[in-house]
This record gives sequence, structure tokens and C-alpha cells, in this order.
Amino acid sequence: MTFKDLGLSDDLLKAVTEMGFEKPSEIQEKSIPPLLDTERDYVGLAQTGTGKTAAFGLPMIQQVDIEYRAIQGLILCPTRELCIQIAKEMTQYAKYANGVNIVAVYGGASIQDQIRAIKKGANIIVGTPGRTIDLINRKALKFDSVSKVVLDEADEMLNMGFKEDINEILESTPAFKRTWLFSATMPRDVERIASNYMEDPIKVTVGTKNSSAANIDHKFCLVQGRDKYYALRRFIDHYPGLFGLVFCRTRRDTQEVAAKLMNDGYNADALHGDLSQGQRDTVMGKFRKKTIQILVATDVAARGIDVDDITHVFHYDLPDEIESYTHRSGRTARAGKSGISIALIAPAKSGKIKLVEKQIGKKLELVKAPSGQDICGMQLMKLIKNVEEVEVNEKGIAPFVAQIHESLKDYSKEELIERFVSVEFNRFLKAYEKAGDINVDPSKMRKGRDNESSGRRRTGETNTNRVFINVGKMDGFENKGQLLGFICNQSGVDGGSVGKIDLFDSFSFMGVDEGVGERLISAMNGKNIEDRDIRVEFSQDKPMGERGGGRGGDRGRNRNGRSGDRRSGGGDRRSSGGSSGGGGRNFRERRKRR
Ligand code: ADP
Ligand code: MG
Repeated sequence: MTFKDLGLSDDLLKAVTEMGFEKPSEIQEKSIPPLLDTERDYVGLAQTGTGKTAAFGLPMIQQVDIEYRAIQGLILCPTRELCIQIAKEMTQYAKYANGVNIVAVYGGASIQDQIRAIKKGANIIVGTPGRTIDLINRKALKFDSVSKVVLDEADEMLNMGFKEDINEILESTPAFKRTWLFSATMPRDVERIASNYMEDPIKVTVGTKNSSAANIDHKFCLVQGRDKYYALRRFIDHYPGLFGLVFCRTRRDTQEVAAKLMNDGYNADALHGDLSQGQRDTVMGKFRKKTIQILVATDVAARGIDVDDITHVFHYDLPDEIESYTHRSGRTARAGKSGISIALIAPAKSGKIKLVEKQIGKKLELVKAPSGQDICGMQLMKLIKNVEEVEVNEKGIAPFVAQIHESLKDYSKEELIERFVSVEFNRFLKAYEKAGDINVDPSKMRKGRDNESSGRRRTGETNTNRVFINVGKMDGFENKGQLLGFICNQSGVDGGSVGKIDLFDSFSFMGVDEGVGERLISAMNGKNIEDRDIRVEFSQDKPMGERGGGRGGDRGRNRNGRSGDRRSGGGDRRSSGGSSGGGGRNFRERRKRR
């Protein structure tokens, strides 16, 4: 099957050929003919990197009537980055389709410039929902002549809370228009949009629903929280040609991991929401050009990252929302290439592996963090390969050759090889000289619910180090994992160094590794949750489990306790009060925005 067979016009064929597209991808093959032909709505489900932009972009361009100077197509997508990218890609397709004008509208850039571009005569608008609404309200955009609307990455748009905006925008388009929805997954909300706004759509699914691209190898590596950074480094060192993305759950981790990598001499940088748009653009530009070899990012900041050739995606932590796993790992294996996804998992979190497997419909393969010897071997072979492949500039080195021969004449060939290799290689040998095995024995993985508490008792299990914190279920924490996530997020302490957690209504206890209690106390005290001061202090109490937890929990449920009471010591310290159900709701909202 060729692009020509799909019914595309010559000017589009010329452009895609120039772009190096040899043959259509599966979603393109299945979408382009019906989108060119029928008057029906359309739902296309396919993983990221499968070429959806061309699947809707080419038919949309072909159907623009350039005699008619009005907006005929609208493409909505979740992020500014995607928006720019889609518009850029579409402009390339339209290179020979004389006069088809594509304008991108997105936040974080001058709205006046965008209004001017629209006024010059746009045929197709590519927009993020927020800015699009803004422009409708300013009467700069009118969609009454739009005949095709694309909802690209519909699942992401809903994840990001654009549902109302989308509804509003769709309502401003004429009833006769056709809607084409593209998505990687089909959660219920997307299904709902489809049934509310589309009439009897043609549905095409490429690959299995919800599963990730077939050419991604999904792996996980079992290491203690404190060893995650070292495990990451080992993987990076083990693949000399690696070009990778590392996902962290929080901005703080993102910054920290990137800083460590840079400090250790890697070309790395961080991408997260605390950066200005300008800084983000700079980082992304460097990554695209591969000046940065490893980009460390939060899920939100990395949405829409569309860089080909990413070889590895690392999950420094698994995401809170398991669906994000598919989006993360889909950043590799784009455009028909293959890629590797590696999750670094602490034994206490190994329960999440099953959830990921369910999401992607595949087993994750357990891999070991490479040993020092493996790494040295790989680096050495790369060095040798470089020696074999290097182009010798005979003229350039000629003036020095005689002197070099003279200096080295007493060494045998064997000695020379050893010495040259050592010059390059001592760094690695030294770094990994004493490197032990950091892998955790898989039999220590948490197995299902029964073991939950014993699994958590892994660290701080003697519980001599136990801290009290005046937050609990009343603050919106539905389970221990959420509380742990909050505490790690706020304090920068690694989840792996926190052991058994007892979560009660208005307070909680945590077992912690040596030294971690002090860090928690200094990081958390002074912060607040819903305008209430957070208090963390060492606990003298025995762990709840050892004295029949129920009672402590009952006492904690006293909502009237005041936070000051704790200081009077004894049992009172457990009541914290002051929080409300409303606080919990807001807290969850905060979590979502991260
Ligand atoms: P998706 O929207 O499904 O995530 P994109 O449309 O962004 O995927 O395409 C991913 C990459 O593949 C882009 O760099 C695009 O230029 C390239 N691409 C798309 N279609 C083809 C094709 N038929 N042949 C080669 N490369 C393609
Ligand atoms: Mg896309």
C-alpha cells in the first residue's frame, strides 16, 4: 500500500515523499480513505508515535477549498508543544498545496500576534482549548464555517481537565461539521464525548486498545529507593548510545536527579513546571538537538514531547495514574523504531507492577541493574569500536608522528594497547571498582495484600525511628500510599527510606530509616496543609501494630482536638484536629495539578 493508493492529491504526495515518508503507517492506511471519502464522524485509536497527525492532517488539507477564505478545519490538542508541532508538521504537508494556511493558537505566547495571523486568512486552526476559548470570547475566532474538527489526544485533553472547554468550543461549531477523534486510549470520558458529540462514528483501532506499542520492551529493575540513582547511572553507562527520558513524580525529584547527573558529568537537564516557558523551550531545543542526552521530566511537563530516536524511557518512580505509564513509555519507539522502558521499583512498591501489566496487557520483564563489570565491558567495546572506525587524518598528524614513535618505541604492542585503553578507561574502572550488586532479590517483592504490612516494615522495621505527623485521613489521604507520596513530595525524602505507616483520621505514624526522621522534621515543620501547620516529631510510642492498633485509631478520631494539645505530651499528642472534609477535597485537587 502506498500513499498514492490512499487517494491523496499529487501536491500532498510530493510533500510526504520529500519528508521521507515511504509508506503509510497502519493508522494512516485505515484513516485516510474514509476521512477523504465519507461524511461520517470518525474515531481513531492508536498509540503515540504511530503517525496520527498525518492520518487526519493530510485529508483535512486536501479538503480545504482555497477559493473560500475562511476557517474550514479546527484541530484541538492538549499542549502548547503539541500544538506547535502539529502546525509545523501540517505546514510541511501543505508545502505544495498552494495557499492553504495553517495557524497555531496556544497560551504562553502573544495573543495579538495570533490574532494578526488569523486575520491574514487562516484555513486551519490548531489550538489548545484554553487559548481557543479566549480567542472565541474576543471574537477573534469564529467557527461557523468549520466543516472538520479534530480532537487530537482526546484522552490527554480530558486528563488535563479540558472537558468543559471542549464542550464549549464544539458548541460554537456548526451542526453539519464532522468530528474526528484521535486518542491513544479510550477511557469512559472519551467514550462519552464520542457519544455526545458524534453521530454513528466509524471506529478504527490499531493495535490492541490500551496496550502500548509492540516494539517497546517493558522492563523493571528492583532496587531500594536509596539505590535508584545508582541503578539509573548504571543503565546509562551500560548503553553508550543511550538517548533517554527519565520520569519522576515530583518537580523536586526531577530537579534533584538532573542535578546529580550533571554533577556526575552527564549531559542532562530537567524539565518541569517551575521553569518558565522560555527555559522549557531552551531545554527542549537542546534535547531535540541531542545536546542533552538525558532529560529528566515530570509527567505534566513531558506531555507532548515528541522527539524521535529516544532509545530509553526510565520511570524513576511509577506514576500515580497508571494510564500515564503508557504515555511515558510511548515517548520511545516512535516512527517504527524500537525502544526500552525501564521502571526502577523499590520492593515496597512492587505491587504496582501488576497494575501496569494490566494497563499495557503485557508482562514486565525483571532486569538487573548492570554490574560494574558489565558496564566496563560495554564501555571498553565502544572505545575499541571508535578506534576501529575513527578516520585518520594523516596529514594533520604527520608532523608529530616521528616524535610519538620515538617516545613510545620501548613499549610492545600489547603494552601500548593497555596504555591507550587505560587513558580513556580508568574513569569507569575507578567508578565501578568497588561497585557491588545493588539489585534486590525478587523474592522480597511485595506479594498482594496479605503481605502489605510486612513488606512495608522492610525499613525502619525495628521502629526505633518512628515519627508522628499531624495529618491523616481527614486531610484527604485515602491510603498509606497517598500519604507517603505527599510526604516524599513535600520533603524530598525517598519513599524507600520510609517503613511501616499507620494512617489514622487526624494523624499518622511512620517508621523511618536512620537519619530520615531528622530530615522529615526539618523539611515538613513550617509547611502547611489547608492553612494548618504541619507538625512532625519523633514518637516515643511503640508501633501501633504491637499494641493492637484499634484503640489508637479510635482516639485519633477526636475531631475536636486542637493541634496545640499535642505538645502536652502523652496520648494527646495524637489528636491534631483543625482539618475538615473540605480540606481533603482541595488536597486531592492539588495532587492532580502537580
Ligand atoms: P502520533 O500523533 O501518532 O503520536 P505523529 O503523527 O507525531 O504520531 O508521528 C510520529 C513521527 O512519525 C513523526 O516524526 C512523523 O513525522 C513520523 N511519521 C508519520 N508518518 C510517517 C510515515 N508514514 N513514514 C515515516 N514517518 C512517519
Ligand atoms: Mg499526535
